Amino acid sequence: MVARQELVMSEDFNVVVIGSGPGGYAAAIRCAQKGASVAVVEKAEVGGTCLNRGCIPSKALLGSAHFLRLVEKAELFGVQAESFQPNWPKIQARKNAIVTGFRNGLSGLLKSNKVTIFQGKGLATAPGKVTVESPTGNIEIAAKSIILATGSEPAQIPGATFDGETVISSREALGLAEIPGSMAIIGGGVIGCELACVYAAVGTKVTIIEALSHLLPTEDEWVGRIIARELKKQGIESLLSQKVTSVETSGGLAKVSLEGGQTVEAEKVLVAVGRRPVCDKQIIDALGLKLNGPAIAVNEMMETSAAGVYAIGDVVGTTFLAHGAFAEAEVAAENALGGDKKMGDYSLIPRAVYTFPEVASVGMNEAKCAAAGIEIVVGRAFFRANGRSAAHNETVGEVRVVRNKTADKIMGISIVGATATEMISTARMLLGSTEKIDDVSFAHPTVSEVLKEAAEDAFGLSLHAPPKN
Ligand code: NAD
Repeated sequence: MVARQELVMSEDFNVVVIGSGPGGYAAAIRCAQKGASVAVVEKAEVGGTCLNRGCIPSKALLGSAHFLRLVEKAELFGVQAESFQPNWPKIQARKNAIVTGFRNGLSGLLKSNKVTIFQGKGLATAPGKVTVESPTGNIEIAAKSIILATGSEPAQIPGATFDGETVISSREALGLAEIPGSMAIIGGGVIGCELACVYAAVGTKVTIIEALSHLLPTEDEWVGRIIARELKKQGIESLLSQKVTSVETSGGLAKVSLEGGQTVEAEKVLVAVGRRPVCDKQIIDALGLKLNGPAIAVNEMMETSAAGVYAIGDVVGTTFLAHGAFAEAEVAAENALGGDKKMGDYSLIPRAVYTFPEVASVGMNEAKCAAAGIEIVVGRAFFRANGRSAAHNETVGEVRVVRNKTADKIMGISIVGATATEMISTARMLLGSTEKIDDVSFAHPTVSEVLKEAAEDAFGLSLHAPPKN
């Protein structure tokens, strides 16, 4: 990292990026690759939520949880492993080492791209002007373009205020000092379901409380049904269509009261009800930025309402996904340097959930097609009929390929099953396809054959499914 903490009255750059998460660092590197002089202002750790408090640490914990689940089934694979148990301090240390390694790698990458990092809080005071409030004094930066990538923070609900100890957000849940005996998770979305899998694997009694009628409510209902069933096998209870009215804490224990009168007691309450954009009021006021609800309003070029000021990632409230931020960063970087690039169709950005089993989807699912009045044919294929999945004892799940019957093209693909998150990028390539894929060769035996089989089935050509009448 090129740390610049000394008092500098004024420095000029082509582009200054505020925030170094996936949106910010990607925009900075892309601008630098195109020959621009670039500054990044970061008030905390380089890498933002994804690297430090989100995607990477959660996947590291899920890696340990996955290993524990495998050892539990050792016997089934013909392996004797009588005694094993989670070593939580080591699981945490492994996670921390992964995060630190990637953070150092990212700092090095920025340095090698000659991106200057200013450590401190960045305040855009006017278009083209940013003040860095650094520990050693204020630094004034001038730049032709500003890219705001200030991210998001966990949302709260009334009656369940974070106290950092008993009522916690994903931030604390990723770094608990000890394995809690019990955990109530408010919100059965992505974070709730992923962290439920982590804690259930290390022995915590987990209860998920979800306001809507199925888990992972942004996915089709059948997806949530399979996940609830599989989570139950892991000892996780899901209370669906349940709203929390209050959370009371006393002596390190919490009592979560639900609308129907039921209560759930737990040592920890994880509130995972979504995230909200971090829009610094000073920046909004100074630049006169228009808002879109709690997010900064942008057009398809990622331009805000202020000339030369762009915004990307969670702060614009579009996808709340690291790879959504990457896509927006490409657009903002190009335009910040005088280009004319537009964001494409957001539904083509894949969604990936790292539960056991995994969930991934791209394009329009069955519910969205129904809402849009599109007549569809659904091709289906099952992991239990896949040889590689049987070899790995990962036979749960299914792939559904949604074909527009009239336009005769693939609209969306949803996958529940092991390696779904890996397969979804291949699935993305099939979107819009009007061709049957029977002449595309998939290696055998591979899990991805389930995807091919479902895509063929959408065109009535599944090789391994019995004929339909
Ligand atoms: P989410 O939007 O995925 O899920 C929030 C859930 O909370 C929803 O199911 C909602 O119905 C429920 N809910 C809301 N209010 C409630 C209430 N009062 N009582 C009970 N349930 C309530 O949000 P999240 O899981 O907090 O994740 C935050 C963001 O981070 C998401 O946008 C997500 O996409 C992103 N994220 C992504 C990944 C990934 O891609 N694997 C992982 C973690 C987080």
